[in-house]
Amino acid sequence: IVTFSAVDKFYGSFQVLRGIDLEVARGEVVVVIGASGSGKSTLIRCVNGLEMYQRGRLVVDGYDMPNAEDRELVGEKGLADIRKGVGMVFQQFNLFPHKTVLENIALAPVRVRKKSRHEAEATARRLLARVGLESQAAKYPAQLSGGQQQRVAIARSLAMEPHVMLFDEPTSALDPEMVGEVLDVMRELAAEGMTMMIVTHEMGFAREVADRVVYIDRGSILEVGSPQAIFDTPQNERTQMFLSRVL
Ligand code: ATP
Ligand code: MG
Repeated sequence: IVTFSAVDKFYGSFQVLRGIDLEVARGEVVVVIGASGSGKSTLIRCVNGLEMYQRGRLVVDGYDMPNAEDRELVGEKGLADIRKGVGMVFQQFNLFPHKTVLENIALAPVRVRKKSRHEAEATARRLLARVGLESQAAKYPAQLSGGQQQRVAIARSLAMEPHVMLFDEPTSALDPEMVGEVLDVMRELAAEGMTMMIVTHEMGFAREVADRVVYIDRGSILEVGSPQAIFDTPQNERTQMFLSRVL
C-alpha cells in the first residue's frame, strides 16, 4: 500500500534520504527506528506529502506521490486527494484549542468529506468511545491530559477513514504515566488490521506490535526485519551500536 523505490530527498544540498526502498503491505505495522537526525520523520512525512522527494518513486494507496518537481502540476487539490487515505499523528497533538473534543473530530469530515453534521458527530462519538474518552466530548483540549489529547488526535485522524496511519513519536511529549494509554490505543488499531508506519523510541512496544522494524542511519535503511531479527540478532554493526545505546 506504500512503496518507496530508490527515493532520494535533499534539503538544499544536504541529502536526507538515500535510495530508500521499502514496501509496506496492507495491514502491516512497520516501526522506524534510528538516531536523532537520521531521517525518520522525513521518511514518514513523505508518505503524506508533507515533504517532497526529488528522485525515485513513491506510491501511496494507489496514487503516485508527486516529487518536488511535479508538485506544481498536481496542485493543492490534487495533493489533498492523494493525502485523503493517509492519517498522521504527531508528537505535538495539534488539536484546535478553541473547539471542543467532539468538534475537533467532526470538523474535517464535515468540511472535507462533506458529511452531514449529524453523521460526523455520531461517528466522532463512536471514535471517542473507541479511544476510551466518550465522557470527554464537550471538553476543550486544554482541559484534558496529554495522553487524553493524543487519543483525541488519533480519533480525529481515524474520522477521515484513513487506509494508512503515520505516527511520529506519538508518546514522546507525554508524561511517562500517560504513555501506556496511547500505546494501548495503537496496539488495538494494529490488532484491527490498520496499516501503520510508526516512528518511536518505545522499543518494548515496537517488539510487541511491529511486523517489521526498519533501522535508518544517516538517511539510508541499513537493516529491515522482524522485531526478533532486529532486536535479538542485528546483522549490521551500526544497528548493534544503536541498539546497545537504547535498549
Ligand atoms: P529526530 O529523532 O530528532 O526526530 P529524525 O530521524 O526524525 O530525528 P529528521 O527530522 O527526518 O530526523 O531530519 C533528518 C535530517 O534532516 C536532520 O539532519 C535535520 O537536521 C535535517 N532537516 C530536517 N528538516 C529540515 C529542513 N526543513 N531543512 C533542512 N534540514 C532539515
Ligand atoms: Mg523526527
